[in-house]
Amino acid sequence: AQSYVGFDTITKQIEHKLLKRGFRFNVMVVGQTGLGKSTMVNTLFASHLIDSKGRLDVDGPIPQTTAIEETQHSKPQWPPKRLELDSGLIIAFRVAIVENAVKLKLNIIDTPGYGDLLNNDGCWEPITRYIKDQYSGYLRKELTAQRDRHIADTRVHCCLFFINPTGHGLKPLDITVLRKLSEVVNVVPVIAKADSLTLEERELFKERIRAELQQHAIKLYPFDTEELDEEEVRLNERLRTMIPFAVVGSEKTVVIDGKAVRGRKTRWATINVEDERHCEFVYLRNFLTSCRPTRSVASIAVRSLHASRLVRDEQTSA
Ligand code: GDP
Ligand code: MG
Repeated sequence: AQSYVGFDTITKQIEHKLLKRGFRFNVMVVGQTGLGKSTMVNTLFASHLIDSKGRLDVDGPIPQTTAIEETQHSKPQWPPKRLELDSGLIIAFRVAIVENAVKLKLNIIDTPGYGDLLNNDGCWEPITRYIKDQYSGYLRKELTAQRDRHIADTRVHCCLFFINPTGHGLKPLDITVLRKLSEVVNVVPVIAKADSLTLEERELFKERIRAELQQHAIKLYPFDTEELDEEEVRLNERLRTMIPFAVVGSEKTVVIDGKAVRGRKTRWATINVEDERHCEFVYLRNFLTSCRPTRSVASIAVRSLHASRLVRDEQTSA
């Protein structure tokens, strides 16, 4: 059996360092083309950073306010940094927000859609490879660096998986990709374009997805570990009843009751993205921005250890 002697001490040290340095949260969005990933990234930051073809729009207008700014009283970093990867496909940018004097940098990594080809064997590989590379790179640096030298953490802490709002269920390819992802990263599924479902359809679909995930034994975030206290266990239970979040994204503002809000006009109604009665975007945003540099870091650290072990095992078996 594995034992983590002194892990609490390590965790405390990590927490202390992170509090001093600020906290960085790296989120990746994954899903088929056209499900609104880039739009969701832009909605989260409420600014036109990436156009629908996946190009970074750095010359775009400087946003007056952002959704995060409004709720967290902070200023986004501008212009956002661009990270071109070797594959030339994945781009990343960051926003620094300050909350309770703790610096939180939210990085979102946008990925191109998968499953567009006739043969989709291994279509998830560039994504899982990227995730593993960040883990093994971090581990390598950690093993060679002097203890107190800062190591930039580019590990993917959370992966939002976009589900097609068909109302039926997951496709076999979705199951495969979900399984592959859940082996290396914390996966949080979301129902894309939830405005295409009625509220009843949405609830049914959510239940169906939860049942399918369970049936296929796909392990999703949040996990219960022995370190969690009762309150955290309850919070996790509640989160599990809410997941997958049914979200709507938009790059446009609509006017509702004389107020300009981020939304979409459908055949039936005008949707305010930030209205909890319309969709669960706010839950998702709160979920992402409330990852405090406390216990959640510990669980991320445990998960990272686990993932680095996976990477190592794979390398030694190769
Ligand atoms: P990606 O390929 O996953 O990055 O998808 P995009 O963000 O480029 O969006 C593809 C299309 O879907 C665009 O025309 C968007 O305007 C539209 N779209 C994005 N989010 C939503 C949504 O929540 N609801 C609806 N109805 N359309 C959306
Ligand atoms: Mg895109």
